[in-house]
Amino acid sequence: MLTTYPYQALTASDFERLLARNTDPSNAIQQSVIAIIDEVKANGDTALRDYTEKFDGVRLENLTLTADEIGALASSIGRDQQRALEIAFANIHRFHETQLRKERSVETMPGVKCWREPRPIEKVGLYIPGGSAVLPSTLLMLGVPARIAGCKEIVVCSPPQANGSINGYVAYCLHLLRINTVYLVGGAQAVAAMAYGTASVPRVDKIFGPGNQYVTKAKSLVQSLSHVSIDMPAGPSEVLIIADGTANPQYIAADLLAQAEHGADSQAVLVCTDQRIIDEVQLALDTQITALPRKDVAAKAIAKSYAIQCNTLDEAIAFSNRYAPEHLIIQTDDWEPLLRKISNAGSVFVGHLTPESVGDYASGTNHTLPTSGFARSYSGVSVDSFLKKITFQHITPEGLRNIGPTVEILAELEGLQAHKNAVSVRLR
Ligand code: NAD
Repeated sequence: MLTTYPYQALTASDFERLLARNTDPSNAIQQSVIAIIDEVKANGDTALRDYTEKFDGVRLENLTLTADEIGALASSIGRDQQRALEIAFANIHRFHETQLRKERSVETMPGVKCWREPRPIEKVGLYIPGGSAVLPSTLLMLGVPARIAGCKEIVVCSPPQANGSINGYVAYCLHLLRINTVYLVGGAQAVAAMAYGTASVPRVDKIFGPGNQYVTKAKSLVQSLSHVSIDMPAGPSEVLIIADGTANPQYIAADLLAQAEHGADSQAVLVCTDQRIIDEVQLALDTQITALPRKDVAAKAIAKSYAIQCNTLDEAIAFSNRYAPEHLIIQTDDWEPLLRKISNAGSVFVGHLTPESVGDYASGTNHTLPTSGFARSYSGVSVDSFLKKITFQHITPEGLRNIGPTVEILAELEGLQAHKNAVSVRLR
């Protein structure tokens, strides 16, 4: 049952409570992640084996799979599943390859030419979640842009399943991406391994991928403690649905549950201008949830989720912009005028026939997205996430005559004589 709050009655402290998610008030997660990182730094593969036994319930001697083992697993899955993964791969590739746009060079003054060129980040680490559900789709979402960017070394970590291996769907994605090794490590220990390196797991320059609160906290910590960077905080999933009286309550309930089944820590929020729709969504939730294999997980997430009853769609957008959802679904007939008012969201799904699931898997957009309000300042993963942009410049004699005196004055006003001299010596 979603608790409903009237937007007009929300106080500042209501906002604070409703907008917060996945906080770690007692620092319990942070403390355990710090301990895991320290242990991996100190004991490398031994620590990885011990944590894998503790958290994933399997003792592994070898932390990697060979290309032959991956090949055998990949060919064990059905042709229909292979084809679905191929279509998803192709659509993700089609959407992301357009992001590789060449910038033009600019002559800022006659003879002063500046330009920027992208270079791939050489070693990247992809985290593929595998705790409560294995997500081969995440491997495509990270691997495809990494390949388009041209990253030389792609390290993939994913927690092993109970049989000490990965599933055939992840293996098939590795095959599509031409990646022939995978490291059977999950959680904060996988992030620490990719940040510091162990005998088995190579150290990388940047770590990507979603995960639970342990994975997300580990990414934030290693970013500040080591020389590795991260894509963004992409933690437990969330959706916010904006709806009016034109919406279909069955569709809304299905979308809320699609989010809720990710994990008990997922959040699903409905912001609606029509109380009748909210009431019908409640009924539809009760019916639809009973048919879900993961109904226990979904019920826990729904219990922490809520509805906001607004008077206007502008109020709904205002709430959504403050919440900054990872996924925003807009179920109204007249959605187009609303788009320009959206200022904070990871990925937006508009119209009645655009479920978030299509973006999770196969429409082409990326599903690795900022959560917990980080959509205020981060974008989702794209080809850009796997690139650095290097600036270049070249100055001709005419250019030096044009720009030199300006730089001499600016260097002098900052009291940096050597900077001025570097220009003056050339002008003379
Ligand atoms: P996961 O792979 O992120 O985490 C599993 C690992 O967590 C385990 O291998 C274990 O090492 C570690 N762990 C579990 N309990 C622990 C404990 N008590 N102490 C320390 N470590 C512990 O898989 P998951 O748990 O299924 O979570 C996946 C998450 O990814 C979900 O929350 C989902 O919503 C989220 N997700 C987010 C996005 C996004 O773009 N933001 C996309 C897809 C999925």
